[in-house]
This record gives sequence, C-alpha cells and structure tokens, in this order.
Amino acid sequence: MRKFLAALFVVAVALAIGAFFFRGQIALAFYDRALKKAMTQDVLAELPDGLSIGLCGAGSPLPDPERAGPCVVIVAGTKMYIVDIGEGGSRNIGRMGLPIGKVEALFLTHFHSDHIDSLGPLMLQRWAGGGATSPMPVYGPPGVDEVVKGFNQAYTLDRGYRIAHHGPDIIHPGGFGGEARPFTLDPDVPTLVLDQDGLTVHAFGVDHHPIEPAVGYIFEYKGRKIVLSGDTRKTPSVFAAAKGADLLAHEALAPDMVQRISNAAKAAGRDGLAHIMNDIPNYHTSPEEAAEQARDAGVAYLLMYHIVPALPISALEGPFLGKSQDIFKGPIRIGHDGDFIILPANSKTITLTHRL
Ligand SMILES: [Zn+2]
Ligand SMILES: [Zn+2]
Repeated sequence: MRKFLAALFVVAVALAIGAFFFRGQIALAFYDRALKKAMTQDVLAELPDGLSIGLCGAGSPLPDPERAGPCVVIVAGTKMYIVDIGEGGSRNIGRMGLPIGKVEALFLTHFHSDHIDSLGPLMLQRWAGGGATSPMPVYGPPGVDEVVKGFNQAYTLDRGYRIAHHGPDIIHPGGFGGEARPFTLDPDVPTLVLDQDGLTVHAFGVDHHPIEPAVGYIFEYKGRKIVLSGDTRKTPSVFAAAKGADLLAHEALAPDMVQRISNAAKAAGRDGLAHIMNDIPNYHTSPEEAAEQARDAGVAYLLMYHIVPALPISALEGPFLGKSQDIFKGPIRIGHDGDFIILPANSKTITLTHRL
C-alpha cells in the first residue's frame, strides 16, 4: 500500500511539473476551443422561443466593478434589441456571447450621457466586427437625431480608415453608424414605436424632471410582457405601464446611501460633489418605491437596474434594499452585469441565468 501511494505521489508530481512546463500550450488549446465555440455558436437560436432580458450594464455613472453603465438587452424570438448603451455596455454584449452584428435596433430612454456613451463602440462593432450592411436604427424621443448625428460625425474619419484598410467588400460602407428614428410621444397613452416579427414596443413618458423628454418602454411578445422604467422618480405612468407585466425592470437608487456619499464629500471639503450627491435622489426612485410599484402593478418579478450607488460587497445589498422585500413579496433581483432572464412564450415561467 505504501509503495502504491508513493508511486501515485510520484506520478502526481510528474503531471504537475509537466502541466507547469506546458502551461502555455495547454492554455492555447483551451483558447482555440473557446474561439471555435465563439465563432460557431448561435446563442439567439439556442434560446427558447419567448422574451428575454439581459443586463449588459446594471449600473450608473458611478464606478462599480460589478456594473457597467445602463444597458439592457431584449431578445424576442431570435431578434435582439438594446435599450440604452452606457459606458462598457458594448463590451459586455460581446462578453455575454451575444452577436453584436445582429442588433436589430437601439432604443434610448433619454439622452443623459451615461445612457449613450457607448453608442460609438456599439455602432462600430455592429458594423466593422459584426458585418452589418445597414445603419443601426436608433429609436428615441425628439433629440435622438442630434445624438446619432453627433456620433456618426465623430466616427466619420474612423469609417474611412476601416474601409481603406479592409476594403468595401469586407467592411460594407452602408452598414456604418446609426439612423435616428424619432417618435412623438402621446401624453395620454403609450405610443407604439415598433411592431415587428410578433414584438410590439411602446414608449411612455416618465418623470425625470428637469430632464425632458424621458421615456420607459413596454416590450410584448407571445403572451409575455417586460416593462423598463428608464430613469424616473416614482411616477404613475410606470405603474400604469407595468400592470400585469411578467417583469418590471426598475431603476433603483438608495437615498440614504447616496446621502452618506454626500456627507463624506462635505466632510472632506468637496462641497460641489456634496451638492451633486444631494441633488441626485430627487429624480430617481428608491428600491422601496420600486417595490411599491411592482406590488401595486401586480408584476411577477422585479429586476432592479441602474443601481446607485455601487455595491462592491454583497453585504451592502441588505441596506440597499431596505424594506423592499416586505413591500413586494415576489422575487427581487438586484441586477448584475451578465444577468439574463428568460421568459418562454405563452407561459408563466421566469428563469434567471448568468452570461458572465
Ligand atoms: Zn438620467
Ligand atoms: Zn441614468
């Protein structure tokens, strides 16, 4: 027995030494395998028919190692859409294994910089990396044309470089940039923005005063309904839109935690930052208010996104939620980048998965 154990030990040591010396080759073998999978896998076709929501950015402008700027993926059937494209969002779409070249359209809730600052990379990757042959439709309330025009202009030189380097047969000149699709909001009822392949998208006004216009969106597909609040204080239009929804994705800001940032800034003599932190809560919704909206609207699942402030350790999630779980008895998820929630067609099932 002792001899056998000694032999086993020698073999294990030999294997460990071998693995150490060949670690580069071993890593390359895994690398090739991962590349093959990335090149051949059709994630959208593998999903069950239905509606899904993913978080390519669960955060806000405040730096959070767990959360990029606000960015939401909606998949209806095999078609993929994006809502808002905050900093780091386009990278996360790639990291989540989603085909960025297949983005059908982008919807913007409003034009605060944290919701648009990854628009350039998104349009570039969809075109140059993803092979798009027509500009990306960008839906939004009035003002969207100005935003899209500005990004298109900023990337005009880069457009020339890409085509000159790879040739127009590879980099189709017609796929560059975005095409604004502004809509005018009906003040009384949600406005139909898109009706395509069984998916309907309605926009509704929210209260992010003094930022106007600002909207939320309703996505409906084969008996499933997802509502996004956009940036807003607690407002009746979100409640009305969310009635009977399967999932409400609501922005959430914990005022008492932001107050602590303000206090710390003031104590450090940073009065400007203290003032900004004082102002922020008045045009956002607290987690408890989001829970009230979910409860009153009778939604099945509450996904909190646009998380403010950063929650670098999970022990902060309790203080962030406050009494939310007493208010809304259904599942509450504090969103993380990579969350991907699947709602199969014509059912009540809601499944949380992770793509990061
Ligand atoms: Zn905003
Ligand atoms: Zn925001």
